[in-house]
Amino acid sequence: GGVSSPRPGIKIKVVCRVRPFLKGEEQDNSVQVNHAERSLVVVNQRNPSEVLKYSFDNCYDSQATQEEIFTENLVPLLQEVCRGLDATVFCYGMTGAGKTHTIQGTPDHPGLIPQSMKAIFQRQKEFLAKATPGTSNKFDIQVSYMEIYKETVFDLFKPRDPGMKEGLMVREDAKRNVFVAGLEKKKIISLEQFELEFTKACKNRATAATRLNQQSSRSHAILGVDIKIEDGATNKVFKGKLNLIDLAGSEDNRRTGNDAMRLDESKAINTSLLVLGKVVDAINSRASRIPYRDSKMTRILQSSLGGKSLGMMFVNIAPAKKFFLETYQALNFATKSKEI
Ligand code: ADP
Ligand code: MG
Repeated sequence: GGVSSPRPGIKIKVVCRVRPFLKGEEQDNSVQVNHAERSLVVVNQRNPSEVLKYSFDNCYDSQATQEEIFTENLVPLLQEVCRGLDATVFCYGMTGAGKTHTIQGTPDHPGLIPQSMKAIFQRQKEFLAKATPGTSNKFDIQVSYMEIYKETVFDLFKPRDPGMKEGLMVREDAKRNVFVAGLEKKKIISLEQFELEFTKACKNRATAATRLNQQSSRSHAILGVDIKIEDGATNKVFKGKLNLIDLAGSEDNRRTGNDAMRLDESKAINTSLLVLGKVVDAINSRASRIPYRDSKMTRILQSSLGGKSLGMMFVNIAPAKKFFLETYQALNFATKSKEI
């Protein structure tokens, strides 16, 4: 002990969020959240005497507000990003469990993306205003937004060429940093501008998916926010990055018998989520080998996952009994990646 470890003691936190019942949904609950204890229990539908308990870094029931989720989990991360660290946040769960609600939200109930951007612009304003007299501070914000579908990367800020099958290339620079060649990074100067660009990109995503007869729930959407802060008095520069990721639905499409789902599509989703689970597991168990290279997404995120970077996995859960298998699978995915 006492010697600095080559791998800093940062783990990927796992946060569970159970959504409310939706209109028309039968109100038969399969999970019970204990917020104070940061845990939940679920009864095995096949064997009701078996009650399973899962512990998390945070656990929220259907009453939790978007503000609460943001303040308790994202604010501390943003603090570190502004000090020059990278942070990556995922939403995992079956389609309909509340991933997009958590990460994007609605105009009335903004999710993690709009709340984070608002907080970053607030911070920018304060930092620019408090420059030492005679010097000027800088605070640059750049945003990228990509989609990974069947191991192919697309830029959501650019209209999709219908004939485009190839996607963007993932490359490595001389310092072995992995990057997506040709991915646009937009300089963003206001929250209003961000909201316009982001809304446009989301429509782009939906349109491309419809044209190709896909569903956006079968791809991963990765919003990257690069922050560069320069202190005019000291000339110190801090570069941090925040990734906010809406993952493809974790349901097993072969089991649920979705005809429209082609086998290769289903395989690609299952493989990339499986690799993500293995990467998170390897980071949290301090494994010497982390299989970043086994999927496009983990390869792209390599520098923002593990090492000194901060990570957070939201596990979104639908409460109804009919989703028990999906819930059970998602909880096990998360607990595997939970601190042991
Ligand atoms: P996913 O992105 O995982 O497929 P969505 O975020 O689209 O799921 O959520 C499915 C439905 O449930 C949507 O109608 C959404 O508005 C609603 N919903 C999800 N989470 C919540 C929540 N915490 N509070 C209220 N409504 C929610
Ligand atoms: Mg969604």
